[in-house]
Amino acid sequence: MHRLLIVPLLMSIGCTLHAQPAGGTVLFEGARLIVGDGSAAIENSAFLVENNRFTRVGKKGELQPPAGAGRVDLTGKTVMPALIDAHTHLGWAVIKTNRVGSDTYSKENLIDHLRRIAYYGVAATQNMGTDAGDAAFELRASPVPNAALLRTAGRGMALPNAGPGAEYWKPIAYGVTTEAEARKAVQELAAKKVDLVKFWVDDRNGTVPKLPPAIYKAIIDEAHKNNLRAVVHVFYLADAKELLRSGVDGFMHVVRDQDVDDEFMKLIKARPNVFVTPNLPERETTAEDFKLMGETVPAEEVQRERDELAKRSPEAVKKARAFYDLQARNTAKLNAAGVRIVLGTDSGTSVGWTVHQELTDLVAAGLTPAQVITAATKNAAEVVRIDQLGSIAAGKSADFLVLDANPLDNINNTRRISKVYLRGAELDRAAMRAAWIGH
Ligand SMILES: [Zn+2]
Repeated sequence: MHRLLIVPLLMSIGCTLHAQPAGGTVLFEGARLIVGDGSAAIENSAFLVENNRFTRVGKKGELQPPAGAGRVDLTGKTVMPALIDAHTHLGWAVIKTNRVGSDTYSKENLIDHLRRIAYYGVAATQNMGTDAGDAAFELRASPVPNAALLRTAGRGMALPNAGPGAEYWKPIAYGVTTEAEARKAVQELAAKKVDLVKFWVDDRNGTVPKLPPAIYKAIIDEAHKNNLRAVVHVFYLADAKELLRSGVDGFMHVVRDQDVDDEFMKLIKARPNVFVTPNLPERETTAEDFKLMGETVPAEEVQRERDELAKRSPEAVKKARAFYDLQARNTAKLNAAGVRIVLGTDSGTSVGWTVHQELTDLVAAGLTPAQVITAATKNAAEVVRIDQLGSIAAGKSADFLVLDANPLDNINNTRRISKVYLRGAELDRAAMRAAWIGH
């Protein structure tokens, strides 16, 4: 049994789907507090939330709340900032019926996905080039309750039908064949006020033509002229080097064809603002992962996924592990060199739970749990440019997780979520779960 929490009256018992009334002031006491900026955790902390923001952070006993404030006892718990996923493709999959295709992208799906990721502790996410139409922009402007905030690159860019991997996504990207077309596409994106510009430089194993340097240099240049960052989906080491020389601002994958070399490390270290979302492929999918998935996906779908994975040949399993290992080595090398690593899942059809799998895989790659948490909070907040998120400090939005165990001891403890607070309001996770899986 969990320790009984003292629920303040202001948070209206049984009505946690609604934000606490404006003016609500609550003191949370006794938790180990992971601030999110890489600093040492505060044992036996206290923090005050007023009007959905952190206003004071300190030690229990030292922090006196104003008269009439509610109190929540978090003794034995660990609190950390809500997670941020800087690389997703939400809005396409219909999770309930396990369907995705050229006709499935919708605002309704986007909202559903933003709620699913919120359930798993994500406060904000960034869609990377697969948003057609206006839905993502509308949701960015008007966030919905009990859901993560959304940022978007709008439509990404590649040669015609040579961008995103899935067939149903390919028509979404701008197909640009000249520098002039590339510049025009960037100007259109700038007019829509995208958060950044995304393009693909990959031949998908020789199946599609790769965007040539002359065109991506025009994309980067035009993005910078419009005060936008240009970020890339990359695969090959040689391309990654040329992209760095061309002024790219971020890599939405690590290099995946070979181990990075000294020349690459020299190039990336010379560009300290460049960030990398590794989006590691799954190292393995464990019983614990399936359990996590089963919190929001019906049991028969989880079983179908399990069966699918079990069908793989030993060679396929070995190959997948080698692919993970290579990317893990490259991620560890970047991390050791002080390159900014940022949480990204690249998730489109597996929504929400994979964020925790990515945290696990990053630690398996050699990052410390503290480094991984920083990648998922402070670093990611910088990349999605939401300065109200990413750490627990006075003035920031009250977006945080209450965990039953300390993720600094074992990163898998980020899965042991007791409560999620977004913008000061506690999610009713039990009600959300019931709506998705019936119990
Ligand atoms: Zn992607």
